[in-house]
Amino acid sequence: MERLWAPWRSRFIYHSKLKGCLFCQKPRSLRDRRNLVIERGKYVFSMLNLYPYNNGHFMIAPYRHIAHLTLLTSRESGELFEMLKRTLKKLDRVLKPHGYNVGFNIGRAGGAGYHRHIHLHGVPRWQGDTNFMPVLNDTKVMIESLDEMRKRLLSKKG
Ligand SMILES: [Zn+2]
Repeated sequence: MERLWAPWRSRFIYHSKLKGCLFCQKPRSLRDRRNLVIERGKYVFSMLNLYPYNNGHFMIAPYRHIAHLTLLTSRESGELFEMLKRTLKKLDRVLKPHGYNVGFNIGRAGGAGYHRHIHLHGVPRWQGDTNFMPVLNDTKVMIESLDEMRKRLLSKKG
């Protein structure tokens, strides 16, 4: 993936060292709005990335704390893929991106921030977005816009 300009990512790296497993903690909490959780399935859940590479950057993870894609059961991988399709359809309508990067970073060498809990990244892309990215220094502004994004993804008319 081409590296996008996302200065708030450094805060993510800092926080990930302080706290436990994000993908275990968020689904246990009932504060879906605060945690930016979009959808809860039986085996997997989706959420917006608090430190996005681009507008609409989401993640889908199994509830189970497993490190590798090969450890997903067929039920987990099936539900994960269906949730991915639903999320992309929704983003197509809400954000109208020109394309996506969808994939897994497996292991530290693969660039995973949370290498112990497998998760899929979906990043909407627009033509020329690597040339122009808004610089947001105020985290509060970012969180408010993420809350708005979540509302749009949850709305029926989208
Ligand atoms: Zn975990």
